[in-house]
Amino acid sequence: MKKYKYSKNKKMIFFRTASLITAIIIWIIYLTSGKGKSLDINIENVSALKISSEAINDIKKLSEKYEIDFSELFTYYAVENKFFENKIEYDSKIEQNFIINYDKIKNIYNFDDIKDYYELIKNIHTDIKLFPIDIKYKNEYMYGDSWGGERTYGGKRIHKGCDIMDRENIRGRIPIISMTDGKITNIGWNEQGGYRVGVTASSGNYYYYAHFDSYEKEIKEGKSVKAGDVIGYMGDSGYGKEEGTKGKFPVHLHIGICPKTNLSDEELWVNPYPFLRLVERIDNSES
Ligand SMILES: [Zn+2]
Repeated sequence: MKKYKYSKNKKMIFFRTASLITAIIIWIIYLTSGKGKSLDINIENVSALKISSEAINDIKKLSEKYEIDFSELFTYYAVENKFFENKIEYDSKIEQNFIINYDKIKNIYNFDDIKDYYELIKNIHTDIKLFPIDIKYKNEYMYGDSWGGERTYGGKRIHKGCDIMDRENIRGRIPIISMTDGKITNIGWNEQGGYRVGVTASSGNYYYYAHFDSYEKEIKEGKSVKAGDVIGYMGDSGYGKEEGTKGKFPVHLHIGICPKTNLSDEELWVNPYPFLRLVERIDNSES
């Protein structure tokens, strides 16, 4: 009797040890399979989004060719490149190196880990329906990726937006349209931004337009706007404590994007440039 009890306990210990070892083996296989690859992404890279306009347009074309959601494709591409930590000038091998291995790459990450990045990209991409200047003025403006340039007014800081310049440098002649649907949540004088307008979209993202020469009539705080509504006219207001200061820099529109996101506890601004290139391309193809 005693002997029987002893061997039963021994069997129990054996089974418990065996199941523990099996669990450990499964866990090791899971870890080495790569699923759940840890993300080491600097939030400043997410903000700066230093992707070339060619690469972003390639991603757009490939998303259509392979019928993959653009925001998903862009997010995985950005995550794989640590949000362009080593600025990508022009990656001509996106199709060979990235799309062909897309399923494998997707399998490397837990979607939960990249969800907030995806939401960030998707919401901005969904909100922005139009370029802020109508296609008929396409020869009147110019812009490049001006994120990160040094600014000194009001203390040394970096440029957290995208500037669209009037080629003729004449204030008040180019109408500015809202890129998104939303509600005007800020309007009036701001020392750095001059006459500015802030539009909050239903996603919670905030779109900031600065240095207007004047506002469009009827544009008031609390008013709803649709993408395409004129909100004001390009100018050179700002850089002065005194309301109405103009002429401190060339005539241009400053665009800022401050998304609602869980990625940062602090206010996060994201480079509008890639998103502007996307909607501008659509405008051009329709012309
Ligand atoms: Zn600016």
